[in-house]
Parts: sequence; structure tokens; C-alpha cells
Amino acid sequence: MIIMEKDATQEQIKYVVDEVKKHGLRADISRGEFRTIIGLVGDESRISFAHLAALPGVKEARMVETPYKLISREYSELFEGKDESHVIEVGDVKIGGDEPVFIAGPCAIESKAQLFRIAEEVKRAGAHVLRGGIFKPRSSVHSFQGLGSLGSEEATEALTWLHDAGQRFGMPVITEVRGESQVDLIAEYVDILQIGARNMYHQDMLSRIARKGKPVLFKRHFGASVEELLSFSEYIAAEGNKDIILCERGIVPVGKGKSYTRYTLDLAAVPVVQKETYLPIIVDPSHAAGRRDLIYSMSCAAIAIGASGLVIEVHYNPAEALVDAQQMITPSELGRVIETCKQINRVVAAGKKKVIAA
Ligand code: PEP
Ligand code: MN
Repeated sequence: MIIMEKDATQEQIKYVVDEVKKHGLRADISRGEFRTIIGLVGDESRISFAHLAALPGVKEARMVETPYKLISREYSELFEGKDESHVIEVGDVKIGGDEPVFIAGPCAIESKAQLFRIAEEVKRAGAHVLRGGIFKPRSSVHSFQGLGSLGSEEATEALTWLHDAGQRFGMPVITEVRGESQVDLIAEYVDILQIGARNMYHQDMLSRIARKGKPVLFKRHFGASVEELLSFSEYIAAEGNKDIILCERGIVPVGKGKSYTRYTLDLAAVPVVQKETYLPIIVDPSHAAGRRDLIYSMSCAAIAIGASGLVIEVHYNPAEALVDAQQMITPSELGRVIETCKQINRVVAAGKKKVIAA
């Protein structure tokens, strides 16, 4: 991390950046209200910090040992001069602001009629962003893989429906990118690119998605520690894309007996992540629980602990859904979740101002 003097000139900044590049590293330049910070991306042992510190216009060159830094609070505080969280704006929707954001829609898009009906009903229930899977990461090759797997024409058609449903009902749209070959196509149609839990560790795909310059929903792998979630999100930030929405969606259950839920929702990850990074974190109770009767309680808990929003799977007739039928709630149930969560958020936010953070 190179901290420039407050009055460092553009020439001095350029000189430092060129010096960084000469040593085979990349530079992440953050120009804040306060000062310019240059984050080094790559193997820092290739460059001498004493040499960097001596360059004109450099106030301090500091080695940061953590596996993530571009997304750390420490980093943003340096150039912003204050502790600010990052608010990601997608159209009119603000993610990470004062109000929780609700992302809702079917697990998988099955037809145009199904998607449009769900889109209309989730919008009425108060959702802000429309989700719908096209390239589904299924455990069995024998189950429905999403319309994306049927060929490029079907994929493009489904992407067009998603885009059009978003336009019609006034919601930005999101879908999962399952492989690198899908990145360019999907980025043409959606507002937010989703990286699913199974792909959290796929560095090349993260970089490629990041370079699209669109907001990314980054889901925690079910076997990943919080540190790994943050380290891997740094691959997105390293491409200059800081519009990363982190998502807690449950980790593997422990013990030999029945666990009763599909995964274990790690709620503590929410405030921990908020202390470590300025990025927003949301919660997916649908995949964590795997059962609809728990969605209301888990949603309330997630908002109470300070999540910036929720991703919830919704269907007007859950029983007929081709994927994840057991965890879908109806649009009217979604409406009740949203209404209660908004109230909880108001109460928690008001109380938080009075509590001294540890
Ligand atoms: C999804 O959101 O559609 C999904 C498959 O979730 P996850 O990657 O968390 O399993
Ligand atoms: Mn699903």
C-alpha cells in the first residue's frame, strides 16, 4: 500500500505506478477526497518498500500482510479519511445503504409466462431486484439444468425474457454465471452478475466477470471460511471493480445426525464481514434453509443482525417449480417478510447509533 502525500502531483503518482508495473505488479489507484492511495496487486516481495517510500510524493509505503486489502476498511479509510461503507447503485436501487434490498424471483426460469408472472408479483410484494437462474449448477446431470443448457438460442431467449421482465416491472436483474464461456453473453443482458457458491474459488472466472465492470453478487462457498470469502473477492477488486455484494448462503452442517436444514446459516459472518470490509453483505435464507417454513424467521434474523438485504426464491405455485420447490415461498409470503424486515431494520438502525462498537 503506497500512501501519497496530500499534495502529490499527477506526475508523481504516474511515476510511482510505472515503478510498480516495472516490477511486474499492478497498481490499484484510489483517489479519495483525502488523498491518493496506490494498492499493489501481486507478489509484493518483488519490490523494495524502502525504494518506494523514497520516491517523490510518497508519504509512506506499507506492507500489508492480510490476503485482502483493496476491500479492507483500513484501505478505504486511508483515502476517504473516514469510515464509510460502499453503497452500490444499480439503477434506482442502492445496495449497502440505510434500507435493506430484497432480491427475489424463481430459482430457475422455466418459461416466459412463469418469469413475467413472478416478476410482476414480487415487484408488488416490494422486491427491488429480479433474480432468475438460466445456467443452473445442479448436483445431478440428470436433473433440469436450466434453459441455458439447452443451447445458445434458448439461453439468449431466456436472457431476453429476464432483461425484458426487469424493464417491464422496473427492477434491475441478476442471473448466475456458471462458466467462463458464458460471461460475455450474460453481461449483455443483466445488471448484476452472480457468482454461485460452487464457483467462489474459480479465480479466472472471477477476474473475467470483474472486468465486465458490472456489480457482482459473490456467494460464499459452503466450505469456505470468512477469510477465504474475503480473499477471493479481492480477485474481483484487483480488476478495479469494487462493486461487490457479498452473500452468506449457509455453510456445511456439522455432526453425524440429521441437521434439519440444508446448510447452516452463519449469521455471525455478517457483522464480522462488516468490520473487515466496506463491501455490503446480504443473506440468502432460501439456499441456507432449504425449506420454506424457515424463510420468514431466518430473514428476520438476517436483517436484525445487520445484513444489507436478502435473496429469496419465490414462485406463485412452489409445488410446480422444477428446481428447489421445497424452499420457495409465495409472493404474498414475500410481502410479509419484506414488511417485517423493514420494521426490524428501522428498530435495529435506531438502536445501533446508541451502542458503542467494540
Ligand atoms: C442460486 O442462487 O441459484 C444458487 C444456486 O445458490 P448457491 O450458489 O448459493 O448454491
Ligand atoms: Mn435455488
